[in-house]
Amino acid sequence: MTEAWNPLYAPAYPAERYAILARRIGAILMTDNDVLLVQAEAVVALEAVATSLARPGLSALNIVTSSYGGWFGQWLRRGGAEVIEIVARPGRQIEAETIATALDANPGVRALALVHAESASGILNPLPEIVALAQARGIVTVVDAVASVGGHALDVTGLGIDIAVIGPQKALGGPAGVSALSVSPRAWELIMHDNAPRNSILSLADQKARVDGGRGALPGTPAPLEFFALEAALDRVEADGVEQTVARHEKAASATRAGLSALGASLWVPAEQASNLVTTISAPTDVEPTSVMRFAGGLAVDLTAGVGTGLSHLIRLNHTGPRATFQTVLASVVTYGEALRQAGLAADVGAASEAVVRAYSG
Ligand SMILES: *Cc1c(COP(=O)(O)O)cnc(C)c1O
Repeated sequence: MTEAWNPLYAPAYPAERYAILARRIGAILMTDNDVLLVQAEAVVALEAVATSLARPGLSALNIVTSSYGGWFGQWLRRGGAEVIEIVARPGRQIEAETIATALDANPGVRALALVHAESASGILNPLPEIVALAQARGIVTVVDAVASVGGHALDVTGLGIDIAVIGPQKALGGPAGVSALSVSPRAWELIMHDNAPRNSILSLADQKARVDGGRGALPGTPAPLEFFALEAALDRVEADGVEQTVARHEKAASATRAGLSALGASLWVPAEQASNLVTTISAPTDVEPTSVMRFAGGLAVDLTAGVGTGLSHLIRLNHTGPRATFQTVLASVVTYGEALRQAGLAADVGAASEAVVRAYSG
């Protein structure tokens, strides 16, 4: 796919390559579990998981650290499940001890869902600890790793994650119109019940037959462009290496924090609870976040507000996927510093630049 070609005349995606794509995604997730491809953005894959697990009599513990978790709980309840919801403080991570207490108080729980890393607020949930708590109790875990895959280590089999949902368009730098999920044998047992939804684009039970039958086809009409783009994204991630891709995000996060600290910025999340995808700061009280963002927009620098109730005072510096580079990090930090100066505050932009350069060259 190197020469220019007309997307209106894209060739069909070769059906025998779906299984290869699934294997390649499994390798990134470090798992031999079945990998299902979903021909839609990742929210649809998440809704398919909730819809396929939910039933009257199922008790689920749903952790909410952004609106994605809120939606997941809503889809579970729509399917008749009893949902115990653990909601973190706005923009904050959940503590493993909170989950341990909730699981002890609710021994009937059979499924647990959480988001790994949030790009809405820049937090990282304590995934290994929470999955271990669920594993010890035989609870099926569902992890929304849409934002984190490629930005954080994600050892699906090593941690014992039963269902991991991913999208290529964040840290993997791929297309937004296709997503995937891995399903463990234990998760299949929970999904394949007598009243599992069938003949639905949200039915994972429908997909099981296709996986078992050798995956010559996807449900629905294939959208070839998305699969060619997914393949291109996987080519690049594999050429760089997954560990290297994660390391590039770690570097971007630590360099951003170093630069912002040199500006005297108030970081929203302590380093050990921070995601590698975005870095969030609380805007000083005498600075209007919208004017900072307008200034950044004029320079084509991606500074945005926190997403979620009560988080509009946060400013996010995005260093995900193609933005996890020295150039973008430097531009974001310098731009934020200059925005502070324009608002009449002291900000040592030179020291901040040096801190970013040192983080990258050290
Ligand atoms: C982006 C994101 C999604 C949704 O992905 P879409 O591809 O936009 O549907 C779900 N969960 C998390 C944590 C995300 O960051």
